[in-house]
Amino acid sequence: MSKAGGRGLLLARRLYTSRTLGLALGLLCVGVAMYPLDPAPWVWGLMIFNGVLWPHVAYQWTCRSRAPFRAEHRNLLVDAFLGGVWVAAMQFNPLPSAATLAMMAMNNVAIGGLRFMLFGAVAQILGIAIGYGVFAPAFIPETSQLQLYACLPLLCLYPLALGWICFRQANTLGRHKRELLALSRTDSLTGLLNHGAWKDQLDIEYQRCKRQHRGGAIALIDIDHFKAINDTHGHVAGDRVLRQLSRMLRQNLRATDVAGRYGGDEFCLILPDLALDHAASAMEALRDRFATLDDAQSPALSVSLSIGLAAWKPSCADATQWLDEADRALYEAKSTGRNRVICSGDHKPRQEVFDPV
Ligand code: GH3
Ligand code: MG
Repeated sequence: MSKAGGRGLLLARRLYTSRTLGLALGLLCVGVAMYPLDPAPWVWGLMIFNGVLWPHVAYQWTCRSRAPFRAEHRNLLVDAFLGGVWVAAMQFNPLPSAATLAMMAMNNVAIGGLRFMLFGAVAQILGIAIGYGVFAPAFIPETSQLQLYACLPLLCLYPLALGWICFRQANTLGRHKRELLALSRTDSLTGLLNHGAWKDQLDIEYQRCKRQHRGGAIALIDIDHFKAINDTHGHVAGDRVLRQLSRMLRQNLRATDVAGRYGGDEFCLILPDLALDHAASAMEALRDRFATLDDAQSPALSVSLSIGLAAWKPSCADATQWLDEADRALYEAKSTGRNRVICSGDHKPRQEVFDPV
């Protein structure tokens, strides 16, 4: 089933309930208006068909259609056309006529906007013209008290039902929007924030540090010789390593820390309200833990991390400059032998280590 087809069936299901209710209430309203005019049996038959059977026929017709979305719009135009016919048949009795035409217009504008409401209006006018030709009505601009009461259920209940349907639809759309937003901010392999979303958080953290003059640190973490891991153990093993590192980050960070995947084998952290020394110790612990990573499917796999750290400083002009400092520290960790943590401005590894590869 195509996307439009699925959308059409959803629309048909939604309209099935509202059409069944609306036309049943409409039958009461039109039937009471028609009764004093003593209509022919076939007119009663058509009224009952329209009020009771048509919603089921319309639904089945749409379900069997190859283009359900268009079929449902056609059904709405049939509704509008028949509404017009009943207006002429009721001899333009004002209240039931206005109620019938307005409820259908409300339906059409809710489903297809102003453009479709205009199409519906044309169908209503056509219905009135045909009804006029068939019934040759007199114009009786009076509504009796009984006819007024017969219109009340349609006037009260139908807008309520349509409002409820629109509310539920708006809720569903809101949920889908939130889910899509979350997806667009998430790295699909690791479940961490993706590059863009993490940088948004970095901007927020930079502004917070500037406002409160309370610094935190950021870290850029890169897996050493990751290309060689892929080449030797395969990309699937490489993916497992990326996932294991992201799991380790999630398990070992504080709730306020923000982890992201910067891209490829590079990860990024925001560590709010953490002095550089403490941040460095935390990163050393992470480096140690990651070095003991045990991959059951590739027992020979050995891994290490290079980490660049930078503390927020009042002299940082913007978040990008802060990030640049961490990047320079990471570069230094790489160029001085890897498998180490370097703090920006430090120029020394925090511990003497060796590059395992
Ligand atoms: P260095 O020690 O200098 O960091 O070297 P490296 O090999 O880790 O870094 P390099 O930038 O040369 O290679 C990174 C590799 O990561 C290249 C790319 O194919 C691989 N890669 C990027 N994204 C993914 C991914 O999602 N899954 C896997 N398995 N590999 C990836
Ligand atoms: Mg790397």
